[in-house]
Amino acid sequence: MTRPKRSLYSFSLPQLQEHFVEKGFPKFSAKQIFNWVYQNLEFNPENWTNISKKLKAYIQEEMDLTLPKVVWHGLSQDGTRKFLVGMHDQQTVETVAIPARDRLTLCISSQVGCAIGCTFCHTGTMGLKRHLLADEVVGQFLAVTLWLKENVGEGERLTNIVYMGQGEPLHNYDNVKTATEIFLEPNGLGLSQRKVTLSTSGLVPQIEKLWDFPPVNIAISLHAAHNDIRTELMPINKAFDLERLFGAIKSIPLKAHRRITYEYILIDNYNDRQEDIDGLLSLLDKKESKINIIPFNDYPGSRFKKPSQKKIKWFMDTLNEKGIVTTVRATKGDDILAACGQLKSMEDKLNLWD
Ligand code: SAH
Ligand code: SF4
Repeated sequence: MTRPKRSLYSFSLPQLQEHFVEKGFPKFSAKQIFNWVYQNLEFNPENWTNISKKLKAYIQEEMDLTLPKVVWHGLSQDGTRKFLVGMHDQQTVETVAIPARDRLTLCISSQVGCAIGCTFCHTGTMGLKRHLLADEVVGQFLAVTLWLKENVGEGERLTNIVYMGQGEPLHNYDNVKTATEIFLEPNGLGLSQRKVTLSTSGLVPQIEKLWDFPPVNIAISLHAAHNDIRTELMPINKAFDLERLFGAIKSIPLKAHRRITYEYILIDNYNDRQEDIDGLLSLLDKKESKINIIPFNDYPGSRFKKPSQKKIKWFMDTLNEKGIVTTVRATKGDDILAACGQLKSMEDKLNLWD
């Protein structure tokens, strides 16, 4: 299903300003409309009191104002909420809201499915159905914000974003870039750079273009310190092996005091040995890196296992003792298959559109 009109939520602020100037409308109206939509969550142009009738009519006529919809919701015992968000063509993606201390982090999707095909990842088994457009990435945030406001209350606000849902965000570079600009725009959703994290499996050409991307936190899905193991886990390592990956990582413009996070899925009897620790120590720069261990999450049909708690702790403690800041990610939402790597669209299981 094609959409004849471009969505209002697919424009970054500079793009909307340029568009208005081209069409003979005042440039400043773009900022006002950003305020209505993203700060006041007022999506009905009739209520935009400071916008001219002519511009409102133009927007209603020429632009798509519909938002993705929450079509299903699940609540985990630990407070994690999983949302199935439906797009205009009835494709769905999963979006997960994870509470922790004073934060409520939204784990968003960038694609329907994923083309990278990592062997440990539930999403990877779907293949790529399509990229999400910028408005569909931003739309997940808006749809969940509205849902929380309606169902939980005004106090329940999303504070952080991680691109760790379905899809490889850098494979969908332009749309994810525009969406991120809207997340960071002070007149838009107004999140600080430090509250947004992009996770990538290691698409080298796009990593080399990160100088042109808003300066958010970067997480690299490393998962192995040796090429043979990494290739078995992540077919992308055939095209871009560790040497090329680390060559590209050097080109990432890091601001002072910031580090790159390396995600490392710990799999029982596989990448949890002393030689994996040694490999990590020789690959990573201690000052500029931190490691986030993700104990492997099971899903139906997975062929790997989670290591014991003792093994996970040993792996983490040894890396910390050797001087690399290492943490273990708490598994959240696994009772509703909302943890990392367990996301897979469920439209086949649910009759959502009746
Ligand atoms: N495609 C991007 C971002 C989404 S995946 C990437 O791969 O980085 C988000 C994180 O979940 C990645 O670090 C991914 O490797 C991890 N993950 C995937 N499957 C997992 C599983 N079964 N158990 C634990 N983590 C998993
Ligand atoms: Fe895609 Fe990331 Fe899953 Fe790999 S881990 S298949 S890159 S979503």
